[in-house]
Amino acid sequence: MPTSAELIDWDRQHYWHAFTQMAEYTPLVIERAEGVWLYDVEGNRYLDGISSMWCNLYGHRHPKIDAAIRNQLDQVAHATSLGMATVPAIQLAKRLAELAPGDLNHVFFGSDGSSAVEAAIKIAFQYWQQHEYPQPKKQRFIALGEAYHGDTLGSASVGGIDRFNAMFQPLLFDVIRLPIPDREKLPAGADASYYLAELDRVLSAEHETIAAMVIEPCIQAAAGMIFHPAGYLHGVRELTRKYNVLLIADEIVTGCGRIGKMSACELEGVVPDLLCLGKSLSGGYLPISATIATSEIYQAFLGTAASARSFRHGHTYAGNPLAAAAALAALEITQDSGGAQDVSNRQEQLNELLANLERLPHVASTRRMGMIAAVELTPTGANAERYPVEMRIAYQICREALKRGLWLRPLGDTLVIMPPLSITQDELTFFGEMLHDSIATVTANPLPPDQVAHLAGDD
Ligand code: PLP
Repeated sequence: MPTSAELIDWDRQHYWHAFTQMAEYTPLVIERAEGVWLYDVEGNRYLDGISSMWCNLYGHRHPKIDAAIRNQLDQVAHATSLGMATVPAIQLAKRLAELAPGDLNHVFFGSDGSSAVEAAIKIAFQYWQQHEYPQPKKQRFIALGEAYHGDTLGSASVGGIDRFNAMFQPLLFDVIRLPIPDREKLPAGADASYYLAELDRVLSAEHETIAAMVIEPCIQAAAGMIFHPAGYLHGVRELTRKYNVLLIADEIVTGCGRIGKMSACELEGVVPDLLCLGKSLSGGYLPISATIATSEIYQAFLGTAASARSFRHGHTYAGNPLAAAAALAALEITQDSGGAQDVSNRQEQLNELLANLERLPHVASTRRMGMIAAVELTPTGANAERYPVEMRIAYQICREALKRGLWLRPLGDTLVIMPPLSITQDELTFFGEMLHDSIATVTANPLPPDQVAHLAGDD
C-alpha cells in the first residue's frame, strides 16, 4: 500500500480532476467511507455534505447495496447490452418502467447523466425523422437559461451556463433559449404564467421546427438550486402537448427519491415523453443512467433491420450488471424502508437549520425542496447585492467548513446543502453547527480577492 505522502504526490502529478484548477489543487485523498462520513488517508473525517456530488442517496457502505454488488460479482461483472441482456439489467428496466409515471415503459441505459440526456436528444431527433407521418423539419430544441444537462457536446448544447460552455460555443448546436423561470424573480403578484407566456409565443410561431423542450423539472441544480414557480412544469407540459413538441425531463438530480418522490414531475402530475435518471439511481455507487421513453416514441423505432429504424446509439458499459444490481438495491431501499420517510424525518430539522442560518447577517435567503437546500450569501444580507465574483465567498466558506470536518462544494455565491437522506439527527445538527460557524467566521473577515486565488482551489 502506498504511503499517504506518495498518494498525495501522485495525485498532484498524474490525476487530472474534473472542473478543477490543477495549478491550485490541494489533494484530499479519500481512503474509505461509512454512512455520511468520508475518511482521508491521514485519518481525518468529513461529513459528506453534498452526497459525493449529489448522488449518494443512502450513505456510503450501505449493507444492502454492498451485498447486492458482491452477489452480482459472483455471477458476472459485465456483458454487453448490444444484442443481449443480463439478469439485473432486465429487472431494473422492468422496475423503472413500473415506477416511472404514465406510459414511460422503455428504458435505454447509459453510464452518466450526460449520456442519458445525449440519448434523449438523439431519440427525440430520430423520432420525428421516422415518425409514421415524418416531420423532418422538427430538428431544434428549446432549453432554459442557466440550464445544465451535462458536458458532452449535445447535452452541453442544451446547457445554458456560460462559465461551462462559452469556450466550446463553436462546437455546439443552436437552441432556442428561454429565460430561467426563477420563482424569486417573479414580479410581485405574478405566477408561472409570467414565464409560460414566452414559451407559448415561441411554440406558436416555431413549433413546426421544434423537436423537443429539455427541462430540469422544478429545480435547476447547477444554476444555483434555482426553484421554478409552482405550476410552471405543468404549464410546460400543456403547451408542449398542444404544439406537438416532445418534453424531455432531466431528473438526473431530482430523481430517485432525493425530493421524497421518484421524480419531480410527480409533484405537478406531469408525464414527460422522455425521462432521464442518473446520479442517485445506483444510490451513488456506480455509474449508470437511464433514458425512459413512452411506448409511442419506442414504437417509432421498430421495423425490420433493413428499415434502419433502430436507435443508432450506445455505450460499451450501458446497463452494466454490477451497477444495475446496485440500482435495484437502492430502489428497494426507497420502496421498502421508506426513502421518502428519510426525507420527511429530516425536513423539519433542515427547516430549523436554515432558519438559524438566516439569522446570520450575510445570509440573504435560504430555500429547500425535499433534501435539497441552498443558502444565498450577500455582503449585507440584502438579496439584490452581490459579493465580487473574484472573492469566491462561498468557496472560502467551504474551505473553512472542511477544517471543521464538513465537505461542501458551492455554486457561485450559493452554498448547497445536500447530505445523504440517511443522515441522522445528530449528524444533521453537526452539519448545521459547522456550517453556521464557518459562515460566521468567513463573512466576519473574508479574504480579499487577491488572496483567494492562493487558497488551493477548484473552479
Ligand atoms: N443533468 C443535470 C440536471 C445535472 O445536474 C448533471 C450533473 O450534475 C447532469 C445532467 C450530468 O450528469 P453527469 O455528471 O453524471 O454526466
